[in-house]
Amino acid sequence: MTAYLIRNVSVVGGAPTDLLIRDGVVAETGAGLTAPDATVLDATGLVALPGLVDLHTHLREPGREDAETVESGSRAAALGGYTAVCAMANTSPVADTAGVVEQVWRLGREAGLVDVQPIGAVTVGLAGERLAELGAMADSAARVRIFSDDGHCVADPKLMRRALEYVKAFDGVVAQHAEEPRLTEGAQMHEGEVSTRLGLTGWPAVAEEAIIARDVLLAEHVGSRLHICHVSTAGSVEVLRHAKARGVKVTAEVTPHHLLLTDEKATTYDPVYKVNPPLRTAADIAALRAALAEGVIDIVATDHAPHAVEDKECEWAYARPGMLGLETALSIALDVLGPQWDLIAERMSRAPARIAGLDGHGLDPAPGVPANLTLVDPAARRVIEPADLASRSRNTPYARMTLPGRIVATFLRGEPTVLDGKAVR
Ligand SMILES: [Zn+2]
Repeated sequence: MTAYLIRNVSVVGGAPTDLLIRDGVVAETGAGLTAPDATVLDATGLVALPGLVDLHTHLREPGREDAETVESGSRAAALGGYTAVCAMANTSPVADTAGVVEQVWRLGREAGLVDVQPIGAVTVGLAGERLAELGAMADSAARVRIFSDDGHCVADPKLMRRALEYVKAFDGVVAQHAEEPRLTEGAQMHEGEVSTRLGLTGWPAVAEEAIIARDVLLAEHVGSRLHICHVSTAGSVEVLRHAKARGVKVTAEVTPHHLLLTDEKATTYDPVYKVNPPLRTAADIAALRAALAEGVIDIVATDHAPHAVEDKECEWAYARPGMLGLETALSIALDVLGPQWDLIAERMSRAPARIAGLDGHGLDPAPGVPANLTLVDPAARRVIEPADLASRSRNTPYARMTLPGRIVATFLRGEPTVLDGKAVR
């Protein structure tokens, strides 16, 4: 195993120092380290962050390997600075049994580019009718702790209550895609001034807020952990603030795109901007950014949703919702938050690792800590070219935009997965 001596790096924004990586861990830190056997990387001007952790990734395997595979998605993640991703359950077949979650987990190990932690479905086939084998998935080799029907809401309150009760036994968490389905029938975009102007059926903010309000009360009643996926409205922030003040064990995520893009994008009719929940208003974005800074929203999660060309480059009404996210998330965070490295480390690595219970991830580089880390060049600016992305899909909403920051290197347990901005494998 090669040792690496990273010279002159700012650890989470601190004064420049050296990091020696040996045998999978950070062996030493300090100025002027020597290690004759180590490969030296000059990291002057670079920032070291704990490897990013994504709580919400769609890897599409099994079933839609034309859109993404565990390997291609893992490579995209590593290039984005991630060392661990949680893979959503809406594959084909659905990850609702020990067999499927173990398959995804094993594919992740074989790819070896990030740790792939499968998420299990809450209900059989994501159908919202009966609970999946939560215990069997928790006991499997994949050790599932997060359960989600993401893509669908667990709309039945009795099923949601039972799921929350069930996961409590092993300190699991239910991650809810908050969307009251009766309020979003036929919805094409955010319900508001722009949808009225375009004559498109709207997805009202209250469809999200009503489910979050219901579920924080259920989580409080049961005393269980609840996580809210892709929070997108100012009203949701207020519900979460209230719940957290009451001591409800609720955590929440926001996506990079909901921090940056508004529903005005729908006026282009370019389906690359179609996403669920939909892009909202500038006022929602302002509330989400403030909530992220304050901690009412705990983490940034990508909702990386690769789609094949035929599912995306068609009429708006027929296009699948979803956007790529893994290879651009850090740049968007840097754009939105500025160089607040401690906040970025907290929201994109430490907190998601804690919520998911991923040992060895989300830890700042320090002696004895597993060497899961990424090196960022904050001064770099890059133009996003879809053809250059490692994902098998091309549905990035940031095509040809110039974004700040570039991932220079990523290490997974001391082995580089990215060097000089390029995937090692
Ligand atoms: Zn979702």
